[in-house]
Amino acid sequence: MVSEISPLAERLALRYDAASGRRTIAGKEVLLHCHHYNARLQRTVESADLVEGKRLIVGAAETVFAEHVGLALREGDSLANRWAVAERLYAHLGFGRIDLSRVHEGVVLAPASHFVEGWFAGLGRPERRVCSFTEGYVQGAVHAVAGELVEVREVECMALGAPACRFAVAGGRTEPLARNVKRPLVFQARGGEWLHSPAVDERAIVEAVAAMPVAGGEDGLVPAFGVYLACMPADFYNRVCLGFLAEMRRVGRGAPAERLLAAEAEYCALNTYHGVLHSPEWDGLVAPMLRGPDDVLFATMTFCNALGYGQWHVAGLCPGQWMVVESVNGYEALGALEYVGRTAAPQCNGHKGAAAGIFALVYGEGPLSERFGAFHAVEEACIACGDPVCRFRVERVT
Ligand SMILES: [Zn+2]
Ligand SMILES: [Zn+2]
Repeated sequence: MVSEISPLAERLALRYDAASGRRTIAGKEVLLHCHHYNARLQRTVESADLVEGKRLIVGAAETVFAEHVGLALREGDSLANRWAVAERLYAHLGFGRIDLSRVHEGVVLAPASHFVEGWFAGLGRPERRVCSFTEGYVQGAVHAVAGELVEVREVECMALGAPACRFAVAGGRTEPLARNVKRPLVFQARGGEWLHSPAVDERAIVEAVAAMPVAGGEDGLVPAFGVYLACMPADFYNRVCLGFLAEMRRVGRGAPAERLLAAEAEYCALNTYHGVLHSPEWDGLVAPMLRGPDDVLFATMTFCNALGYGQWHVAGLCPGQWMVVESVNGYEALGALEYVGRTAAPQCNGHKGAAAGIFALVYGEGPLSERFGAFHAVEEACIACGDPVCRFRVERVT
């Protein structure tokens, strides 16, 4: 096995491009997100009565990971090696552990799960099995590894008390697998005049965060900053969120759908960056730099730029009251252009919510639960609408 492990690790190595702020693993752009966001996004999408939310999650995972597993495979891989790549990619990205050794008996076991942890952490005991993402991942992986169309259904879930999540794999499926079709995009990020703090060494922060080892351990989970992290392909989020918005708009519920997506990101930002600000990594690297009262904001915004979302910067600030943030190449805006083309309305609900959450963390008062919703954010300009940058204005709710 050792001879297999080293080349696999090489295939799955992280590449970080400082100029664009992009993280790439096995040929796909990924971004770091926490278990709060992933589980809550799933719950939001799946609990909307008027749309087929579960189908959206399973379909997005199937499409994106059929491609991603395929990109991690090499010509000449043995079949055993191909299955190992599919298992390893899942664990490496932080989704937990899956055992594909009995897939041809129709059984897949998953003894550790990022999504189940996310559910336990904040959403309580669910009414039903929660591992839609893994169903889609396995469907995509089987297609990439063996070229077969299968339907995977979770039959036992740890979120309901089972010792491991168990999936039934059925052949004979006729519905084809949707390919990850995107429009070619030629986009040049714009430079700009942004605010900086002389005390905050942005380059040192970005380099240190980009160099942090982020990979699933034995159980395929990535505990850090008081949350579980996962490296999710941007394509997955874009397919889920764009699909959710399109379906909700079709039934006249576009505005609440946008608010829900922004709220999940705000909640995630409050929790994850609260963990970041109280971590040994922050204490060791960032805390010694902090001089002025606003340095925490500049350092936190910089920290984000190493996580794979693209680059954003503070463009205007009235401490504690409002800020303007410009995002020069956010994954949501570029994803909208790639999947649906130029849009009439701004698209970056995740960035919008995250900006509000970070501002509330730095300048809000009281426990996190009271800071949620304390600041209002709007996206005034968006690359997806043809503007040169996405611009967010965050303001205190009076
Ligand atoms: Zn499960
Ligand atoms: Zn935008």
